[in-house]
Amino acid sequence: MYTVTQLIGGVWGAGGEAGELVVHDPADGRPVTKAPIATADEVDKAVAAARGTASEWAATAPAERAATLHRIADAVTEAADDLAQATTAEMGKPLADARGGVEAGIATLRQYAELAPARGGRTLHGDPAALDFMTPQPRGVVAAITPWNDPVAVACGLLGAALVTGNVVLHKPSERTPATGWLLARAFDSALPAGVLSLLSGDSTTGAALAAAEVDMVAHVGSSATGRAIATAAAGSGAKVLLENGGSDPLIVDADVDPVWAAGQAALGAFANAGQICVAVERIYAHRDVAEDFVDALVEHAAALRVGPGRDPDTQLGPLVDRRHRDQVHGQVVAAVADGARLRIGGTVPEGPGAFYPATVVDGCRHDLVLIREETFGPVAAVVVVDSFSEALRCAADSPYGLAATVLTGSMSHAQRAWRELPVGTVKVNAVFGGAPAGAAHPRRSSGQGFGYGPELLDEFTATKAVHIQAPGGGHW
Ligand code: NAD
Repeated sequence: MYTVTQLIGGVWGAGGEAGELVVHDPADGRPVTKAPIATADEVDKAVAAARGTASEWAATAPAERAATLHRIADAVTEAADDLAQATTAEMGKPLADARGGVEAGIATLRQYAELAPARGGRTLHGDPAALDFMTPQPRGVVAAITPWNDPVAVACGLLGAALVTGNVVLHKPSERTPATGWLLARAFDSALPAGVLSLLSGDSTTGAALAAAEVDMVAHVGSSATGRAIATAAAGSGAKVLLENGGSDPLIVDADVDPVWAAGQAALGAFANAGQICVAVERIYAHRDVAEDFVDALVEHAAALRVGPGRDPDTQLGPLVDRRHRDQVHGQVVAAVADGARLRIGGTVPEGPGAFYPATVVDGCRHDLVLIREETFGPVAAVVVVDSFSEALRCAADSPYGLAATVLTGSMSHAQRAWRELPVGTVKVNAVFGGAPAGAAHPRRSSGQGFGYGPELLDEFTATKAVHIQAPGGGHW
C-alpha cells in the first residue's frame, strides 16, 4: 500500500488536515493508496512558499535549468518500473501501456531540456541610438492540475516545460493516481532546488482551491467540465489559463477503403486503454457501401481482445478506472440502445470484482444520441451509417468538442477536404494514432485552449516582454 505525502515549501510530509483519500485497484477493489487531502489553507500556504522561491529559480541560467531537467529525466528513468506499476495499480491500464507512458514522459523531458535554452527573443529595429528587443520571461507561479488516464506522460509535459522555462510549480495529480504523482514528484524533487516544486494531493476541492489561488498560471489537463470551472475561478485572480480537455473524436470510414483494415484502425482507436484516451475514437461515420462488412470485422476485433488485470502481461483490455465511471459508460450505451441503436457485442456489466467493461460495438446509431455527442471515455465503438463523404464531414464537424479527427480514405481530394474543413486541433488520415514528434495543435471549443504539447508549450509558460532602452537626454550611449 502506498502512503502519499505532500511536498510544501520544500518540506515533505506537510499538511493533510482535510483528511485522507483511499484509492482502490480497479482490477480487484483492494486498497492500494492512501493520500492526504490538502485544505484551501494549505494550498494558500504552498502558493506563498512557492512565490518565495520563484525569483531565484527564474534567475537561474537557462542552461543550468536544462541540465537540471536532464537530471530529472535520469531520476524518472530510475523510477520507471515503480511509476508504471503504481499507474497500473491505481488506474488499471496494462503494464506495458503504463511503461509506454513513462517512456513518453522521459522523452518529453529530454526534448524540453534541449529545446528550452536554444530559444530566444527578437531584436527590433527602432531608433539606431536605442536598443529594442522582445524577450520571454517565466510567468512565475504555475499550478499544474493533471488527470489519471496517462498520469506520467501528461505530468512530465506540463511540469518539464514549466520548470525549464523558469517557473515554480505546484502539482496537483488526480485523486485517482496520487501515488503515481507522489513517486514522480520524488524523482523531480531529487534533482531540483528545495521549494521549486510542490506536491498537493486531494480531490476536486483541492483542485478548485488551487485554481482560485493567487498563482500566475493554471495549466489543466482533464475534463471539459473541470476546464470550464477552472477558467471561471482563474478569471477571479487574473491567472493565465491553459486547458487541454475532453474530446469526442470522429472516425470517418470512406466508401473506397478495405472495411477489414478500417475495422482494425477503429478497434485500436476505440479500445486502447479501454477507450480512456483523450483522442480515442468516440464516434464512427461509416459509408453505407462498406458499413456492414466494417461492423462485422469490428465485432470480431472486440471479441478477440484478452481481458484481465493490467498487471497480467497478456492483458489487452484492462478495467475502467472505477465503478462510478463504468456506470457512466454503461448508462450511455443503455440509453443509445433504448433510443434505437443496436448492440452488436458487449454492453453488459460483468459479474465479479473490479470495474471491468467489455469491448462494445453499437451500430445503427443516430448522430444526435448522447453516446455520439458526448465523450464516453470507455471501450465503446458507436457507428453511424452515412450516405456520402460530405454527410460524414458535416456530422464530424457538428460537435461541442474539437480535439482531433481521423479519416480513412483512398481519395486525396477527400483527405484534403477533411484537413481543411474539420474544426479540430489535429487531423489524421489513414492512421488513428501517430504523427511526427513535436506536433502541437490548438484544441477547439470545449476541448480547450492553448498549446498543451510540443515546443509551443514552452511559449505558453513564458510571458513576452518588449524592452526599449534609450540614452538619457535623447543622446547616444
Ligand atoms: P478531471 O478534470 O475530472 O480531473 C483532472 C484534474 O482536475 C484532477 O486532478 C482533479 O482533481 C482536478 N479537478 C477536478 N475538479 C476540479 C475543479 N473544480 N477545479 C480544479 N481542479 C479540479 O479529468 P479526469 O477524469 O482526471 O481525466 C479525464 C479527462 O481528461 C477526459 O475528459 C479526457 O479527455 C481528458 N484528457 C485530455 C487530454 C488532452 O490533452 N486534451 C489528455 C488527457 C486527458
